Amino acid sequence: MRIRRLLSFAWYAALVALSGALASAASVEILAPSAGSELSGSVQVRARVVVRPGEKLDKVILETSRGDILRMAPLFADTFEVTLDTTRLRNGRQALVVTASAKGGDESTLHPKENAWESIIRNWAAEIPVRVSNPYHYYWGDLHAHTSYSTGSGLPADAYQFARDKARLDFFAVTDHSPLLTLEEHEDTVAQAERFNQPGRFVTLWGVEATESWGHINFYMTPSPRLPSNLDLLYRAAGDMMLLGHFNHPSVEPVPGRTWRDDFEGFHYSPAADRVMAMVEVRNEREEQAYIALLDAGWHVGAAGDEDHHDRKWGLGKTWTVALARELSREAILDALWSRRTYSTADRNLQLNFTVDGEDMGSRITRRAGTYTCMVTLQDPDPDQVIDRIDLFLDGHPAASERPKLASYAWSVPIEFTPGRHYVFVRVKQAGEKTTWSSPVWVEAY
Ligand SMILES: [Zn+2]
Ligand SMILES: [Zn+2]
Repeated sequence: MRIRRLLSFAWYAALVALSGALASAASVEILAPSAGSELSGSVQVRARVVVRPGEKLDKVILETSRGDILRMAPLFADTFEVTLDTTRLRNGRQALVVTASAKGGDESTLHPKENAWESIIRNWAAEIPVRVSNPYHYYWGDLHAHTSYSTGSGLPADAYQFARDKARLDFFAVTDHSPLLTLEEHEDTVAQAERFNQPGRFVTLWGVEATESWGHINFYMTPSPRLPSNLDLLYRAAGDMMLLGHFNHPSVEPVPGRTWRDDFEGFHYSPAADRVMAMVEVRNEREEQAYIALLDAGWHVGAAGDEDHHDRKWGLGKTWTVALARELSREAILDALWSRRTYSTADRNLQLNFTVDGEDMGSRITRRAGTYTCMVTLQDPDPDQVIDRIDLFLDGHPAASERPKLASYAWSVPIEFTPGRHYVFVRVKQAGEKTTWSSPVWVEAY
C-alpha cells in the first residue's frame, strides 16, 4: 500500500515536470489560413513561432502533401509567411504542416559537462486540415502513335507537326515498337519531340511500345528503346527507372487475328510496376472488361483513349486521352498522367469531371466506412451532343445510373462504401454511340 502511494506520487511528479517542460517549449501556431478553409490559387500561409529563452530559431518551413518544402520568411516579430501556389496540389482534403526548428534551449535541463546544447536542434510542428479546390484545364491528346520507324508511315517530325497543325492536339507522343527501333531512330524521336515541344501551345512526349507475346505496353520518356522482354523483369526495370507506363489494347480473351495475347500474363499484379503503370487504353467493351480485370487485380490504372495510329492522320482518330492539368506544359501534363487525372473519350470537346467526396479522379483516399458523394460534371459545348446515359461502376459493377438527355449535366450520387478496398469510375454514353470512361477514385474504407 505504502509502495503504491509512493509510486503514484512519483508518477504525479513526473507528470508535473513534463507539463512544465511542455508549457515552456517553443510553439508553432498556424494563423492563416484557418483550419477547414477552402483554398484555391495563391494563398498566404502565416504562422507564429515562439521560442523559449536561450533558443535560437533555425528555420520555419511549410510542407505540403505533394512533398514541397517552402521556407517561410519573417514578416514581423514572431510571425512568418510564405505564398503557397495551391494549383500545384491535388483537389480535396489536404494538411498544411508548419515546422519550426530551434537550436539551444534551457541550459539547466542539460548536463553542463556535455555543453552540447548549441548543436541540438529541436523541431516543433503545427498542422491544420484544409480543402483545396482549383479548376483544371482540359487538354486533348494522343499517347500512342507509330511512324515508319515501326509499322506506321512518315517520320516523327511529320507526326508531331501533323498532330499540332492538323489534328490540333494539345499533347502528343510518338511510340514506335521497341524491338524495331534502332538507337538512331529513338534518338531522332527524342530530338523531334524536343524540337516541337512548346509550352502553352503543344506539349510533346516520346516513348516506345514494348512488344512481346504477353501484350504491348507503352513507356514514356525512355532513355533507350531497349527493354527486358521478360514481363516481370520489365516491370521491375520500369519501376526502378520510374518509367511512366500505359497498357495497350488489353483483352481478357485472345483477340481473333492477333498472334499474341493482350492480358499481360493474366493481368497479374506487380507492386513494383503499379507505381508506374498509370494508364490503360479503354475504348470499347472489350477493353472495358480488361480495365475492370486490371483494377480487380489491384492495379492503379487510369483511363486512356489513344488511337494507336499506323496511318498518317496522327491525332485525327476517333478516340483521345484527356488530361486535367493546371497548364499546358510538359511538367503539368506528366503530373496529370502520373496522378491518373485522365479520361478516355470519343468526343472532341466533352469535359468530364468526376470526384468522390471532393477528391479528384485518380485519387486514393481513406475514409471511415459510410456514404460519400460521387460528383459527375459533364459539359459538351455542342447542344446536340446529348448525354444518353451515365453509369457509375463500383468495384467493376454498375451501382447507379442516370439518363440526363442534356448536353451538360451535373449528377451527384451518394455511394455507400463498406469496410475494405474499393474503386469507382464512370462511363458516359452520348448521342452517336460515343463513349467516355473516367479514371477511378480508389477508396479504402475502415
Ligand atoms: Zn500495340
Ligand atoms: Zn501501337
